[in-house]
Amino acid sequence: MKQETGHTLDFNDTKFRCIKLLPARKEPLERGWTTERNYAFSSQEIEEWVRKGGNYGLFCPNGDCCFVDADTKEIQTALDDRLPTYWYSTGREGHRQYVYAISNPPIRNIPLKDGAYIKGQNGYAVGPGSIHPNGAIYGLRKSEYPIKIITKEELIEALRPFMVRSNEKKERPQVNRKNTAWLSLADLIDLAGFRHFGNQYQGPHPIHGSETGINLSVDIEKNVWHCFRHDSGGSVLEWIAVSEGIIDCADAVPGTLRGDKFWEVLEVANRKYGLATETVAKMLKGESKHDATR
Ligand SMILES: [Zn+2]
Repeated sequence: MKQETGHTLDFNDTKFRCIKLLPARKEPLERGWTTERNYAFSSQEIEEWVRKGGNYGLFCPNGDCCFVDADTKEIQTALDDRLPTYWYSTGREGHRQYVYAISNPPIRNIPLKDGAYIKGQNGYAVGPGSIHPNGAIYGLRKSEYPIKIITKEELIEALRPFMVRSNEKKERPQVNRKNTAWLSLADLIDLAGFRHFGNQYQGPHPIHGSETGINLSVDIEKNVWHCFRHDSGGSVLEWIAVSEGIIDCADAVPGTLRGDKFWEVLEVANRKYGLATETVAKMLKGESKHDATR
């Protein structure tokens, strides 16, 4: 179905999916939320979970919708003036979440200055009506949401003054592939806009977001990442597991990918990134060597 820009829709549109978040928290409740464990806005699953006191997230699997964490007055004014749409207050004073439908998907996750963020494909935002860890309530859960349909260029143009500078030039890190058996984390995480010191990149965690703007650290030489919010991390497989919702970011610790979870990650890695069995064998050898030296 072709959609024209300038029109509006609401959360009942199939672009939007909902995921269960822990009560008064921002972390997903269920494994596999990016693939299976996501639900329609008005589904019984979500209605019941919210009634029982759970939080929920709005999730955009296909990059045909996005959420803008607009934490500053300047960003809010720019969006109100140029692309007025449905927004709701988040748990922090003066912070707003703007919601758009994108007519030419996918829109990806794009960091903005001062910790602001465009959350596109596979990103999620805590939904209105949820409870912030500080006790504040996110907006109001209403039935009518006039969400504007726009192109990604319109959004990027409106937010251009707030783009992190290196992002404008689409600077991507040079990866030394000699040490990378298969995929580099730089292939999986959009590092444009991350600050970097040598091989060490720091920026906002694209899966669960960031209040500081720098809670994810990626070392592209060692091909490892670390999340400061959860004191967790790992290499490529752990990153895929977290971004696919197979494990929570907090659970990304050495040895966590065992049994079912391990095979689930390998299956995704094969389907999405063409990982072959021989490569797995090589990686496992490499990883056990790596473990021994730690
Ligand atoms: Zn984390």
